[in-house]
Amino acid sequence: MIFSEPKPFEEILGYLEGEKSVFILGCDGCAQSSGSGGPVQVEEMKKKLVEAGKKVTGAKVLPFLCEKALVKSGLRGRVAEVVAADSILVMTCGLGVQAVAASLNKVCHPACNTVNLGGSRGEWPGSERCKECGQCLLDSTGGICPLTACTKSLVSGACGGANNGKCELSPDRDCGWELIYNRLKAKGQLEKLKKFISPLDHSKLMPDPKLMSTPRYALESLAQEVKVK
Ligand code: SF4
Ligand code: SF4
Repeated sequence: MIFSEPKPFEEILGYLEGEKSVFILGCDGCAQSSGSGGPVQVEEMKKKLVEAGKKVTGAKVLPFLCEKALVKSGLRGRVAEVVAADSILVMTCGLGVQAVAASLNKVCHPACNTVNLGGSRGEWPGSERCKECGQCLLDSTGGICPLTACTKSLVSGACGGANNGKCELSPDRDCGWELIYNRLKAKGQLEKLKKFISPLDHSKLMPDPKLMSTPRYALESLAQEVKVK
C-alpha cells in the first residue's frame, strides 16, 4: 500500500487560485485505506470547496487511480463534467496523480502528500524495506538492509554518531548499523564486518532502460502490442 495524507486545505485552495471550477477524483485503493481520498474524504472536500466559492462540476471515486486504463474507463459517462472543470483535484498518492495527469488532457492538482515508507515492501505490510539497489548486500549485514535501516543509507559501516543505539540524525530511530552489528553478533557472524563492501553502483538504483520497455516494468508496453479494433 502507498500511504498518503491530505494536504492542508489552504494549500489546495492556493493551487485552485484563478480557477472557478473543479472535478474531484478519489481513489478507492490505498487513498481510501489511508483516509485521504476515499468516498468520505471526497464528499468532505466537495463541501469545503463549495463553501470556498468553487463550482464542483462532479466527483468520482475510482478503484485505483494509479491504473491509467481504469481512470479512462471509469470516467466514461462523466466526460462532460470533466470537460466543464478548469482542473482536476486528485485525492490520492503521487502515483495516482501522475497516472491521472498522463490520462487526461487537463490541469491536475495533488490533494495529498505521499508519505515515505522508507522503500518498497512486500505485499504484506511488514517492517522490512528494500530500495531495489540491484546489488543486494544482505549477506554481509545479517539480513538487515543498510540502505533502508541506516538514515544515511551507509553501506560500509556506522558513521560513529549514534548515541545509546539511536541515530544521530533521527534520535527516534534505532541506528541501522547497531541493528546490523547486534544481528551479526547474535548469529555468530561478526567476522562479516571485516569484509570490505564496495561502494554502491548508483546506476543500478535506476531502472535499466531495456527493462523499462517490458511488461515487468509497466503494463503499457504490453498494451501497446495488443491491437484493439
Ligand atoms: S541491499 Fe539492496 S537489494 Fe538488498 S534489501 Fe537492501 S536495497 Fe534491497
Ligand atoms: S547513527 Fe547509525 S543509522 Fe544514523 S546515520 Fe549513523 S550509522 Fe546510519
